[in-house]
Amino acid sequence: MASNLSFNRCALCFATIRSMRTLPTTFRKIHTQSSTSTNEETADIVISGGGMVGTAMACALGHEELLKDKKIVLLEAAAKKSYSVPETFSNRTCAISPSSVDLLNSIGAWQEVEQMRCHPVKRMQVWDSCSDALIAFSKENLLDDLAYIAENNVIEESLRRSLDAVSDSVDVRYQTSAKSFVIPGVTPGHSETHQNSWVTVGLHDNTVLKTKLLIGADGIFSAVRKAGEFHTLQRDYKQTAVVATLQVDESIDNSVAWQRFLPTGPIAMLPLSSKYSNLIWTTTPDEARNLKEISEDSFVDAVNDAFWHDRDRNDMVVKVGGMFQKVLDTAGGTFQQLPPSVVGVQTNSRASFPLGMTHASNYVLHRVALLGDAAHRIHPLAGQGVNLGFGDVACLRDLLAEAVSNGSDVGSLLHLTQYETSRQRAVLPVLATIDALQRLYSTDFTPVVLLRSLGLQATNSMGFVKDYIMRGASG
Ligand SMILES: Cc1cc2nc3c(=O)[nH]c(=O)nc-3n(C[C@H](O)[C@H](O)[C@H](O)COP(=O)(O)OP(=O)(O)OC[C@H]3O[C@@H](n4cnc5c(N)ncnc54)[C@H](O)[C@@H]3O)c2cc1C
Repeated sequence: MASNLSFNRCALCFATIRSMRTLPTTFRKIHTQSSTSTNEETADIVISGGGMVGTAMACALGHEELLKDKKIVLLEAAAKKSYSVPETFSNRTCAISPSSVDLLNSIGAWQEVEQMRCHPVKRMQVWDSCSDALIAFSKENLLDDLAYIAENNVIEESLRRSLDAVSDSVDVRYQTSAKSFVIPGVTPGHSETHQNSWVTVGLHDNTVLKTKLLIGADGIFSAVRKAGEFHTLQRDYKQTAVVATLQVDESIDNSVAWQRFLPTGPIAMLPLSSKYSNLIWTTTPDEARNLKEISEDSFVDAVNDAFWHDRDRNDMVVKVGGMFQKVLDTAGGTFQQLPPSVVGVQTNSRASFPLGMTHASNYVLHRVALLGDAAHRIHPLAGQGVNLGFGDVACLRDLLAEAVSNGSDVGSLLHLTQYETSRQRAVLPVLATIDALQRLYSTDFTPVVLLRSLGLQATNSMGFVKDYIMRGASG
């Protein structure tokens, strides 16, 4: 049998050499070049994209005892950042929910965030510029703080430090782009039923990585999503978010997150410290351009005006809402607090981002999973984007650990489908609600304003509904 095999191999080699001789020279050159310059490696799991979500995924897998003997590779196109906390605040921040804090705690990253800096949110007030309707959430509704505002730079650095602690299990490659993919069942000629049909990832330096599971955490323009031919729903909101670091009047305890719905989009102010807040002002692209160009003094005036003016008030809605509120007040009402005055804007902190919604109809394929913005990008009005991504991480980590403990293949659709079902149950209601809110508040048409105002007032007076909303948003 053995001699038969070696005979067959020799015969094959001979036939290959013979046929090579008959090939045109150009093909022979290419063949020889690629076989010498291509470096082929294998890994159990490859994560493409080392933003907040991909890095958290790598940390979570690296810290998981059951996955200790797995080879995990994280690819990040950008260079490794070195970061120490500067005096000034960054204009890019995220409101981090209690369940994201739990995930970050479990991988040792939250301790780092707290050591660097973050600020608790104890109250949240959302109100309508067309009426007096408002909804307020406060710490009394929950055991924990409502959320924490942390700069993206701080979260990323904390995750990098947590990743350093598992450098034995996770191979991190910065300045490394995943350029091409061969996905069994998708790429023509590569069947997923073939036993050894792993995913192949081609890197920019000609390295080829073969993996049992490719995780796409490569953001809104995900190359993994594209290569996997995932059906994707997209909506351009034709709105732009203007962000900036604001200096606020220090006489008010700065622990409230404020959001006012204007007909052009919501304006939000999130507390960063006793003195500074982060602005996220969603508006039309034209107004956004203007807001970035005007002088700092005019910008400060424009922000104060957006929070305080009553030009959009609809008298009829205010009157009906006032009567309705009297009825609700018998069950205990909430009083409107006034936001702090803005006294300055940090120089060069103004920036803008176009807004849209993207949702992949599926999050998994055989040997492929999407997470974070690669799977779902949402409007920042509820501050849920990265929180949903961290939810994906916790879910996928738990299911992969379970698969390994059962002796299953990490790339099998069996548990990947469970990941998809569980995450779509969590993501879709949030995505649909935010999309509906975005539409509901983009109009000053009286019947719509009346309905949304009464709805907001009613919801605000029902403590148990607010508890439910807060638990949903943080879960
Ligand atoms: C104005 C604004 C305010 C927001 N506020 C909040 C908030 O308060 N709370 C909240 O939860 N969310 C918020 N979000 C959303 C949040 O910022 C995003 O959901 C989050 O950053 C997505 O992270 P990610 O890691 O999935 O994607 P990304 O941050 O886009 O990371 C993707 C990474 O993949 C890398 N990459 C891409 N292609 C490749 C490749 N081929 N090979 C290797 N690497 C690759 C990129 O370099 C990048 O580092 C906000 C968003 C905006 C615009």
